Amino acid sequence: MSIPENTPAPNFIRTIVTRDLEANKNDGQVVTRFPPEPNGFLHIGHAKSICLNFGIAEEFNGRCNLRFDDTNPEKESVEFMHAIEQDVHWLGFQWHKICHASDYFEQLYDYAVQLIEAGKAYVDSLSAEQIREYRGTLTEPGRPSPDRDRPIAENLALFEQMRNGDFADGSYVLRAKIDMASPNINMRDPTLYRIRRTHHHRTGGDWCLYPMYDYTHCISDAIEGITHSLCTLEFEDHRPLYDWVLEELQTPCHPRQIEFARLSLEYTVMSKRKLHQLVTEGHVHDWDDPRMPTIAGLRRAGYTPAAIRDFCERIGVTKKDAWIKMAVLESCIREDLNEHAPRAMAVLRPLRVVLENYPDDQVEQLQAGNHPQHPEMGARSIAFSRVLLIERDDFSDDPPPKYKRLVEGGEVRLRNAYVIKCQRVIRDAAGRITELRCSYDPGTLGRKPEGRKVKGVIHWLSEQHAIAAELRLYDRLFNIPNPESLPDFRDALNPDSLEILPDGRVEASLADAPPGSRYQFERTGYFCLDPDSSREKLVFNRTVTLRDTWAKR
Ligand code: ATP
Ligand code: MG
Repeated sequence: MSIPENTPAPNFIRTIVTRDLEANKNDGQVVTRFPPEPNGFLHIGHAKSICLNFGIAEEFNGRCNLRFDDTNPEKESVEFMHAIEQDVHWLGFQWHKICHASDYFEQLYDYAVQLIEAGKAYVDSLSAEQIREYRGTLTEPGRPSPDRDRPIAENLALFEQMRNGDFADGSYVLRAKIDMASPNINMRDPTLYRIRRTHHHRTGGDWCLYPMYDYTHCISDAIEGITHSLCTLEFEDHRPLYDWVLEELQTPCHPRQIEFARLSLEYTVMSKRKLHQLVTEGHVHDWDDPRMPTIAGLRRAGYTPAAIRDFCERIGVTKKDAWIKMAVLESCIREDLNEHAPRAMAVLRPLRVVLENYPDDQVEQLQAGNHPQHPEMGARSIAFSRVLLIERDDFSDDPPPKYKRLVEGGEVRLRNAYVIKCQRVIRDAAGRITELRCSYDPGTLGRKPEGRKVKGVIHWLSEQHAIAAELRLYDRLFNIPNPESLPDFRDALNPDSLEILPDGRVEASLADAPPGSRYQFERTGYFCLDPDSSREKLVFNRTVTLRDTWAKR
């Protein structure tokens, strides 16, 4: 049986959703949500969750909400919210609606009052540290707080005073009354609310009482009518609490929480705390630095939404944690760009070549195809003249065995142009090569030279026609596959993760390329025009090399 190209690979979550639909659960509806906290930019791990949540909704004619889980006002901001919206959109997904946990603050408060009235929650005056101490360990049961049996009326009055701002931060919390001896520590009377006098980017100074994640998340899911609440494996132990809250409150809808393995990618870090640190300490330029594993960073590096979605499809969705090789991500973008990016010529480290037998004032416009496999992508003309630039690396005065490029007295073909022969090497006083004096063979345009074989083909530009470009060669940000295994992940930063070549040149046809344009610079790699570009100076980022160079290291 052949699977149509766009059908996503089966996984255990799709199987569950299919069965639920067959059993006509949730009135045959599928509603998911992607719930980021607006405390940083989205990264490639989030892309996995986005593709899964939006993908399931799309596939089953359902809906997916973008929900901001904004209950930690200290770390969150409107800027992060906008960046997240932009990234989800750029990946090609459309949310049913945008929601915020903060939209539900009033409802969450009412639900908490309901719990107190039912004798299922109490106001506790233990400090955070005491609560931790009373909670016990995996081998020892916890001890009840002296406040655990506070009368309901007193709890109600105190909780209202907490909301009204009558108490200092940290003086009281609201806790669920569940089971201090539960083998699952999450069930040992977890905190539901804490007092925090912090300005919230959406509710401003309305609240000094903020709900905790576990309490907020399940109720937000229920309010939105989510049918399948997909989250990463570390929440498996929180599921009993998720279910407890919704059962006690008898919410009209009780979503099913399903956990899957988070993405761990080699040679990078994904915790937002660490990504923050990279930005604030200046190890990278910003959240959208092309070395960052953020969606914005990948976009600036030249990744396409299609490549990222393809990556998420290839790694699949399972219940088992696994490390994914960076080469998997890189090969997704390489395949995409190999297929779709037009070819162009760029010289990274120029070396001057003067064709002594080429007329001084002559310029030829030579034709070059934009894609070797796709003639429908057309062709462009490239100027050829007496003074050319080639890559420094494409000439050697001390060639290793089997060197096929230019040597003194040797010949090489210029791509889309003529065969040239190096006659003389010009050096400066320090012995550094400054120029090659060559001759060209006029009979070799689009034809093989007669009576001899010329194996090497190199790229080139006409000096007077080429335009200046800064080329930023990005490499992996870390030297080792798992930087987080070190006591300090920063010790694994790759000092060569960015090499700037200020003196590159590209062909004139790129002069008006808009930022974000992607090319294969022949023989050197895939590049993308950076927003730092100006008319005076183009700036290109290397998205990825033509081949996997890390495999050999
Ligand atoms: P951090 O702990 O670093 O702050 P987070 O996981 O708490 O990150 P959120 O903004 O809360 O970040 O995540 C939003 C959603 O994305 C959650 O449902 C989370 O499970 C999912 N997610 C986050 N990281 C990954 C990952 N590496 N792989 C798959 N899903 C992820
Ligand atoms: Mg989180």
